[in-house]
Amino acid sequence: MSNLPNCPECNSEYTYEDRSLFICPECAHEWSSESETVSNEDVKVVKDANGNVLQDGDSVTVIKDLKVKGSSSVLKIGTKVKNIRLVEGDHDIDCKIDGFGAMKLKSEFVKKN
Ligand SMILES: [Zn+2]
Repeated sequence: MSNLPNCPECNSEYTYEDRSLFICPECAHEWSSESETVSNEDVKVVKDANGNVLQDGDSVTVIKDLKVKGSSSVLKIGTKVKNIRLVEGDHDIDCKIDGFGAMKLKSEFVKKN
């Protein structure tokens, strides 16, 4: 048996190591083996399309026409989004946009103003 840690997401014991990463084959979670002492829940860094780190309260611009889920509207490229809030998940930006209301965006489709 190895001494690899269980997956912090799903507690799977079938984790394996790839270079400096631990990888869980069950939920696909990856984490760094070099930061095993990090227990802060807020360590996730969200970056925009240019690699700039985003923070709560930032203003961003949409860099791609985005279909709005559940409607026929399209969020146009160049749309300014104020006061974003970072959240966990596939869509990691929570925001309110004039004319659209509350919605979630992916950080890869915005750039920091
Ligand atoms: Zn897992």
